Amino acid sequence: MPATQISYGFIPGQLVLLVAIAVGAGLFLRDALSLYRLMRVGGPAHRTDRPLERTRGWILNVLGQGRLLTRPYPGIMHALIFWGFVVITFSTVEQLGRGLWADFRLPVIGGSAPFLFAVDAFQLFVLVGVAMAFYRRIRVRPWYLNLTGDAILILSLISTLMVTAFLTEGFGIAAFPESGSQWQVFGTALANALAPLGFDVNRAGHVVSWWAHILTVLGFLAYLPHSKHLHIVTAPFNAWLRNLAPKGQLPYINVEEALEQEKPVGVSEIPHLSWKDILDTYTCTECGRCTSECPASITDKPLSPKDLILDLRRHVLAHGPALRFGQANGDADGAAGSGERAQRMVGDVITDDVLWDCTTCRACVDACPVFIDHVSKIVQMRRHLVMEESRIGKDLQTLFENLDATGNPWRLPRARRADWASAVGVPTLEEAPGADVLYWVGCFGAYDDRAKKVAGAFARLLQRAGVRFAILGPAETCTGDPARRAGNEYLYQTLAQQNVETLNAAKEAGIKTIVTACPHCFNTISDEYPQLGGSFRVMHHTQLLDALVREGRLRPEAAREEAIAYHDPCYLGRYHSTYDEPRHVLASVPGVELREIHPCREKAMCCGAGGAHAFMEEKRGRRINHVRLEQAMAVGPQRIATACPYCMMMFEDATSTKGVAEQLPVQDVAELLEASVR
Ligand code: SF4
Ligand code: SF4
Repeated sequence: MPATQISYGFIPGQLVLLVAIAVGAGLFLRDALSLYRLMRVGGPAHRTDRPLERTRGWILNVLGQGRLLTRPYPGIMHALIFWGFVVITFSTVEQLGRGLWADFRLPVIGGSAPFLFAVDAFQLFVLVGVAMAFYRRIRVRPWYLNLTGDAILILSLISTLMVTAFLTEGFGIAAFPESGSQWQVFGTALANALAPLGFDVNRAGHVVSWWAHILTVLGFLAYLPHSKHLHIVTAPFNAWLRNLAPKGQLPYINVEEALEQEKPVGVSEIPHLSWKDILDTYTCTECGRCTSECPASITDKPLSPKDLILDLRRHVLAHGPALRFGQANGDADGAAGSGERAQRMVGDVITDDVLWDCTTCRACVDACPVFIDHVSKIVQMRRHLVMEESRIGKDLQTLFENLDATGNPWRLPRARRADWASAVGVPTLEEAPGADVLYWVGCFGAYDDRAKKVAGAFARLLQRAGVRFAILGPAETCTGDPARRAGNEYLYQTLAQQNVETLNAAKEAGIKTIVTACPHCFNTISDEYPQLGGSFRVMHHTQLLDALVREGRLRPEAAREEAIAYHDPCYLGRYHSTYDEPRHVLASVPGVELREIHPCREKAMCCGAGGAHAFMEEKRGRRINHVRLEQAMAVGPQRIATACPYCMMMFEDATSTKGVAEQLPVQDVAELLEASVR
């Protein structure tokens, strides 16, 4: 018998319930609407394309909990709670309905045996999940997880919900056996234990626990918009609205036009964020997965991607209402009130150090179970620092000046770009107009002494395989990757436009494929040049070498009896899912024993050079490349292999600083293959 079938004094139970629902749901709707309006303060983001792909990913990652389950303990813990909540939501609706209308039943499933059994079972699963969560937060205490009052309150509320649900069931069946079903396995067992208490006690227990359950549900609902558990509502939307652009593509802005029209070119205030950025901040579950994989956080730097999102959330929530008021009153630039001016979003809330610590490795984005994009926010705030404030260090200033002056990071003469090639006999496109492969050498391959050896090895392999290829020589200029990731979008677009024109001309001249040994060039040309009108077929050199070995055009024969640890470059692995090809090439060398560094592949830690860090001094915390080298050394290799000139530089720096350069040489995959090919 629902507890609303009795009156409380002269007030009917249904009326009490109706008032409770109105208050709980009303508070929730009021605050949810306010958050929605605040979200709309943000700028545009187009996230409704490719609905089928979005829905497929949604089913996998929201219903299936795919991303969460990549970590077994917290994944299972969360899945138990999530799936439990899905099932129990139906039962709660039925309980509320029956509270208002005694014979209410959910259509189709209401009162059915499978439904009653599922509700009972999932209530237990949720309790197991909550117990696991308490244990993890209180006993295990991972360094990236904070024990907050909010988390404890929410876990306590969920426990209360489940316990009161069981008690309602147990007391109810004990008092009114005809209301129970044998499918309510745990409720019936509890009822058997409670039966000796007698009808009056069980009836009273049922009424009290029913109200306790319902009021906890409604209290939970009212509290949700103020809690990290708001993600229960926002995460399904955030997952469907996730960014489907190529992983390596940063948001495009027409810089010249924006500057002419005096519009912001970076993000420094709440209205410069997109509505999706704001939704991201609402959705953070505070799980800390991003921070646990962030090389900056691991090496004790100020940057924690979790804190970055939470700091943005606090800022948005604190100053949002004033902004909405400003907009409603025609405040054209949407600037926050005195509060935001007093505390700048970029500089105070998110400090410059935090922004500059990011290597753009993307480990955070891939780790986030609710598809929050940290990197684009960081780079857009860097754009503000660079293009609007000129708040940059000497090293970046020099980098930008050099790129602007000579199209390479070291201000070396353009005319010397092809010097390395003459010794190897590599023609430029002008000299070999029939070439169908363009080898994009990149600044490292063209100028850096160590990377030039890799360029030579790769070129000789192409010659041996009979590939008709050429280089651009002095017509090549930096892709602009370091400028773009460092926030100098203007300089990036200047360099990139020039390259897009050159590459489009090469395409017209018969070039079908561009190949490069630099994952950063690979990413920029393949993922970012389409924004500027340049769409090309681009391969990383490990992909081409793997194909040539498979086709038998390159035959590794000389044995190398060595244990080799391969380091996954971020812009090849995480950004382009290229994990197997470099390993295939290494494994094709007779005698090579591949050792996997922990972590590797999708979880590989950055070497520390991305995001323009190859050209910046690492001033805070431990050295990222030293930590990565220690991870590599832990698996006892005789050699380290990689497939990126940035990674090569960072590893060689680390091995020489640690005095192990002789014992532990670092080589590119192409060099190792060349040494074996007869
Ligand atoms: S991209 Fe890498 S360095 Fe930057 S915040 Fe994410 S994990 Fe940290
Ligand atoms: S941003 Fe994502 S991964 Fe990081 S704490 Fe929030 S939900 Fe977890």
